[in-house]
Amino acid sequence: MWKILCGIVVLVTIVVNQLSEAREVRRRRGLMLQLDNYLSYDGIMQYLDELALSHSNRVTLKDVARTYENRALKMAIITNGDGRPGKRVIFLDAALHSREWMTPAAALLTIHKLVVEFAENSDLLTDYDWHIMPLANPDGYEYSRNTERYWRNTRTPNGGNCFGTNLNRNFAVDWNVGFPELKDPCDENYAGSSPFSEVEARTVRDIMHGLVESKRAVMYLSLHTANRSVFYPWVYDTDPVSNQKEHDEIGRFVADRILQSTGTFIKTWQYAKYAGTFGGTSMDYALLAGFPLSFVFEMSGTGRDHVEYKFFPPARDIRHLAEESWTGIKAFAEKTIEKYPPSRVISYNPMVKLAENAATRNLGFNSMVATVCLFFTYLTNCNFF
Ligand SMILES: [Zn+2]
Repeated sequence: MWKILCGIVVLVTIVVNQLSEAREVRRRRGLMLQLDNYLSYDGIMQYLDELALSHSNRVTLKDVARTYENRALKMAIITNGDGRPGKRVIFLDAALHSREWMTPAAALLTIHKLVVEFAENSDLLTDYDWHIMPLANPDGYEYSRNTERYWRNTRTPNGGNCFGTNLNRNFAVDWNVGFPELKDPCDENYAGSSPFSEVEARTVRDIMHGLVESKRAVMYLSLHTANRSVFYPWVYDTDPVSNQKEHDEIGRFVADRILQSTGTFIKTWQYAKYAGTFGGTSMDYALLAGFPLSFVFEMSGTGRDHVEYKFFPPARDIRHLAEESWTGIKAFAEKTIEKYPPSRVISYNPMVKLAENAATRNLGFNSMVATVCLFFTYLTNCNFF
């Protein structure tokens, strides 16, 4: 009798275990990141919500603000779950320019690698947390997906029949200085009605300020397509940044890693030396706000058939290009962590009042260079950055 009872208990235990394992497999399958098509705003939000539920010990989702069209600006805060507060932070954003569809895909894959594939990437989370905003301009993104593919800006009305501000011209670093289109409310380079007129730019700024104030800020990394470049500051000035060598070394490390991995050639530049100066970029602002490191990673938009698709690679290339970008993002992080271990003291010296000087800055030679470069950009249809 006891033997039969024990047998039943063992059998029930086995069945329960198998059921729970099957549930776990289903749960993880449900979290497979879909990279066979470009996700909508709803699809991205759903993935983030499910991930935060299933991995609540390592992902916190913050609903940081609402856009003009009332969409959520969400940030994923990713840790290794050890509960150690005050770790240094890598802050990554994507899709400030809404038509750059590959950037949310790469940001989501980064989140996936750090959370779902945590075991393989736990070194990137030992002494660092990651703050990732995978869709920094959701209004523009949906408008680009559904109405006008090449839409680059936000969707706030500017009066008349003109809409939207270029978020990467809306930051308070020599705001509105550089070339005439920055002042044109109908142009895709419109810098906005004032510095930080856009809630999306204010949100990114406030995250930066918070990380500097808490002495956690190390690297700001903004994803763009499709210039196949690593850019570092300044954009508003041709002078080198004080730690230019460090920026350059990290950029070259990333480029080498990608070249070895996929054969894609990535250039490394101080932006102003590449294409002239203009104001208002998030990359410059991060450095002035106190981040020791700040980069734009212009990911590739070239398909495996070697065709340059720029902003809209075909769906069959999304996974490949996102994986290639992850190779780069991981390299950024590895080199940053190597250069800024917890033992290295960082002295934060924020200088974020440049906006007060912007109005008095002259439109000089630098601005002429920028205008010429932008003219060539127009001719070559190479709308980077
Ligand atoms: Zn861009």
